[in-house]
Amino acid sequence: MSTELLDRLFAFHGHRCWASTAGVRVAQAALDALGVPASGGKSLHAVVDIGDHHGAMCFADGVQVTTACTFGKGNITKSGKGKLALTLVDTASDRRVQVAYKPTLQPQIRDSAFMRKRGAGIPASEIPEAEQWELVNLVWDAPAADVLTVGPVEPAGWQPIAEVIRFAVCPGCGQLVAEPYLRVANGEQMCVDCAGYLA
Ligand SMILES: [Zn+2]
Ligand SMILES: [Zn+2]
Repeated sequence: MSTELLDRLFAFHGHRCWASTAGVRVAQAALDALGVPASGGKSLHAVVDIGDHHGAMCFADGVQVTTACTFGKGNITKSGKGKLALTLVDTASDRRVQVAYKPTLQPQIRDSAFMRKRGAGIPASEIPEAEQWELVNLVWDAPAADVLTVGPVEPAGWQPIAEVIRFAVCPGCGQLVAEPYLRVANGEQMCVDCAGYLA
């Protein structure tokens, strides 16, 4: 695997960490299993199993950089299970594969200088670079069998979701708003903020 990918990851992610590195390895294995390039564009959809407000959510940034499935394209979603696994769907061929991070290295990771400092509340970006690289290299250089559990490639049963392209200008605030998000207030179609309700 190219270290160019790691360079791009850390430029995007903002610090060097084992969880985002694990995300790259898991995502690369999923692309390889499906035999599709990262530039699958709209034909790829990623479901990451991270939740909210827990450690190692950085995993998802490794997945985004590697697969090019991004929040802005709307082709990445979270299952909210609090786990470091990825289901990657190739919607063009309607196939999917699940790849999970295998925690063989967790005792070493848990006892590392990096994780002891993270546990003490020190932000990853303030931990010495050498201690950041120690864990990145551990995950990056590990044999695939030590860090990856690759499931079978299966039919995905993918249901495409139509995208509404149309926009309107809200008469209240003058901002652009996607049509499905217009709400009626005082007889006018307005944005959620100006209408005062979302649902
Ligand atoms: Zn991170
Ligand atoms: Zn408005």
